Amino acid sequence: MAVKYIPEPFRIKMVEPIKMLTHKEREEKIKKANYNLFNLAGEDVYIDLLTDSGTNAMSDQMWAGIMRGDEAYAGSSSYYKLVEAGKDIFNYGFIQPVHQGRAAEKVLFGTVLSEGKVAISNMFFDTTRAHVELCGARAIDCVVEKAKDPAKRAPFKGNMDVEKMEKIILEHGPENVGLVVITVTNNSAGGQPVSVQNVREVAAVCKKYNIPLDLDAARYAENAYFIKLREEEFKDASIKEIIRTMFSCADMFTMSSKKDCVVSMGGLIGIKDAESPLILPIKARCISFEGFTTCGGLSGRDLEALALGLYEGLDENYLRYRIGQMEYLAARLDDAGIAYQSPVGGHGVFIDAKAMFPQLPYFEFPGQVLAIELYKEAGIRTCDIGSYMLGNDPDTKKQLHADFEFTRLAIPRRVYTQAHFDVMADALIAIKERAHEIKHGYKITWEPPILRHFQAALVPIEE
Ligand SMILES: *Cc1c(COP(=O)(O)O)cnc(C)c1O
Repeated sequence: MAVKYIPEPFRIKMVEPIKMLTHKEREEKIKKANYNLFNLAGEDVYIDLLTDSGTNAMSDQMWAGIMRGDEAYAGSSSYYKLVEAGKDIFNYGFIQPVHQGRAAEKVLFGTVLSEGKVAISNMFFDTTRAHVELCGARAIDCVVEKAKDPAKRAPFKGNMDVEKMEKIILEHGPENVGLVVITVTNNSAGGQPVSVQNVREVAAVCKKYNIPLDLDAARYAENAYFIKLREEEFKDASIKEIIRTMFSCADMFTMSSKKDCVVSMGGLIGIKDAESPLILPIKARCISFEGFTTCGGLSGRDLEALALGLYEGLDENYLRYRIGQMEYLAARLDDAGIAYQSPVGGHGVFIDAKAMFPQLPYFEFPGQVLAIELYKEAGIRTCDIGSYMLGNDPDTKKQLHADFEFTRLAIPRRVYTQAHFDVMADALIAIKERAHEIKHGYKITWEPPILRHFQAALVPIEE
């Protein structure tokens, strides 16, 4: 194995015990959870890779910030500190805190999208897609073709297909395209980065047709680190310089701060132009949905931790270690011949469940099958990023066929050690060895109309 685990650039100050149930106990738990991993109690999980969102380990500085947080209802000092940090890093004129990423979507999208409009993205994250649809608009994915082949290695598999995007704009009529969204990194395509070059090209097309460009910026720092490694122009640039360059191309950003800001709660809306007419409606919607403008639904302590986290996430030693963890796990999978979205992305390893279970059709949810097997095998909780997550067409109500059938191992920041990574690799190898014995997947017995994967009930399909 050619990849070495990069030692943690921190030491451990506090621990949180975790327990391992027996195989038999786990089989009972997952059955009781209707084969939906979101229904499991957290304490029944040994290694929790359901998401990297809000599951991060904060630093001693951030915990100290929690104590310093100013809980003034209006104009808290923690709010001003956060706004200063946001303006400094992104070089934007207006920063609005909200309680998490989907709140940013809810507040902002309602100001630009409505019935009959479409929004185009390299790939919509599930809640982002949901908020487009809740506005009565339709969401169209437009990622580069090579993203759809997990075996094909390319530096920027998260990019927008710019030519295709322009075609879609002309098909629908530019006046009907309410928004273009670039998700950095491209979460649903496997945490794959987007290049500055690509953002520049997308921005030029948006400008030509007068369409606002939004960055869905949950993983702005991981994306910038990949740019430093892979985009020649930026090899000597700082992470902050790269971020400023990328954000200068867009008009606005929506951000879940629960990812790269290494905190448990928070989100941001940013508007580049401090004089934008969008700012008033954003403030009004924030007050109705979230909380007063100087808190956005967050407590003062959360604002304070987020202000610190915005900077901590930019540290290059930390980012090297972070991406190094993914590369370590990926190298172990390479040795075992297990396919994943490659090269590995920024916040997790996306196993190609279609390659692991070629005998299972998309409507039996191979990504969900592997997620359930990982829990039974080693108490590891992951999630499906495939047809099960994608759900039904909002118009025809038919099951959609996803481009991928992934099982996502999302890695919380600064939480798990090398030994935990070996547990993950060993479990995947054990499942691969018996993968051919699994003849059928799962069927849904109940589902809600939107974002069904969080709540649906499933049963194994019998012979
Ligand atoms: C997590 C995430 C969101 C939604 O954010 P929440 O904080 O979970 O509400 C939106 N877009 C992307 C790309 C994300 O990863």
